[in-house]
Amino acid sequence: MKLALHGGPPVRAAAWPSWPPPLDPAQRELLAEVLDGGQWGATQSGSVCRDLAAAFARLSGVPYGVAVGNATLGLFAALKGLGVGPGDEVIVPAYTFVASATSVLLAGATPVIADVDPVHLHLSPHAVEAAITRRTAAVMPVHLAGSPAEMDEIAAVAVRHGLAVVEDAAQAHGAAHRGRPVGGLGEAGVFSFQSSKAMTAGEGGMIVCRDAAAHEAIWSVCNVGRRLGGQWYGHPSVGWNLRMTEIQAALLLPWLDRLDAELDRREAFCAAAARELAGVPGVEPVPRPPGTTRDSRHLLMLRVDAPVDRDFLLAAMAAEGVPLDAGYPPLGSMDALTGAGARAEPCPGAEEAARTVVWVRQNMLMDDPSGAADVAAALAKVLTAGRA
Ligand SMILES: *Cc1c(COP(=O)(O)O)cnc(C)c1O
Repeated sequence: MKLALHGGPPVRAAAWPSWPPPLDPAQRELLAEVLDGGQWGATQSGSVCRDLAAAFARLSGVPYGVAVGNATLGLFAALKGLGVGPGDEVIVPAYTFVASATSVLLAGATPVIADVDPVHLHLSPHAVEAAITRRTAAVMPVHLAGSPAEMDEIAAVAVRHGLAVVEDAAQAHGAAHRGRPVGGLGEAGVFSFQSSKAMTAGEGGMIVCRDAAAHEAIWSVCNVGRRLGGQWYGHPSVGWNLRMTEIQAALLLPWLDRLDAELDRREAFCAAAARELAGVPGVEPVPRPPGTTRDSRHLLMLRVDAPVDRDFLLAAMAAEGVPLDAGYPPLGSMDALTGAGARAEPCPGAEEAARTVVWVRQNMLMDDPSGAADVAAALAKVLTAGRA
């Protein structure tokens, strides 16, 4: 038997659910149809990418969708299509995946790294306001861990200062803010289908938007500068091939039918975790921002406020069969970003999160809610041992 770090059997011996979940029959069927049909690319007569884009637009409450190769390129294309480029600044949160900032660099603009709210860890509207300069062109709220950012306040700041809002919804498929779906709350929203996300084809991304002209510009950026409905070798603007394949879309389109049930499953696990953790001193789920009405539960973030060495905590939890992630270093601490011209505002909220917050992964949240008891029991055991 595998022994836990400090002796005895691990709290959790059973495997956690695998991610991605097994293919369902609808995925197998559509995948086989695409493979056998030989129309693997979205510029052929295939239409699964187009159907997926239309479905995501509907899901986001907007008319337009553009399927792309990944969300990093999707964020780049959204910014570029909205006219953001060299000389412009884009405000991004300090506690997010690095791609939120590197997509801005790819567009030739300057990422300005602003702090997150110290309690819920989403982009702080106050920090956004404080970071605005004459050059600020856009703000990129991230729907962190699957719960929507403080969109009312951020939208109000954006309107006051004439900024575009590009939602990084990479982690938030199916999430809603005050009953309105994410992705359609700003000028553009971008979802990811990378392996760790709530819907995945290994890689992939989706841009959604409300405005017809923005859609045409974004589509052109993703389709080698062609005009929508224009000539094959007509390239009135500069663009790239950022397209998704039909093979990816075939994995994703049927997934939409079970997305809601999967969100419910993760929600049930998180509710059970909150109950179980109430009995573990020093550990609390990170609360969501006000206005979260649907959360895709990409991660469960826990704040650990206990005098326990962080490396010990992570190693001991893994030994107990409950592996946790350390989460994001603050973007402002990344020399590669600041070296490339990113500007970092003071970010005590993100720094504190990097010291104290750990993540329970999405695949674990797909477990039966009784698995939440294992998370709590392992934390209780490890925190007690770590204090000694
Ligand atoms: C995953 C992720 C991205 C990048 O998505 P890719 O599809 O891997 O390019 C961007 N932002 C956030 C917040 C993410 O979690």
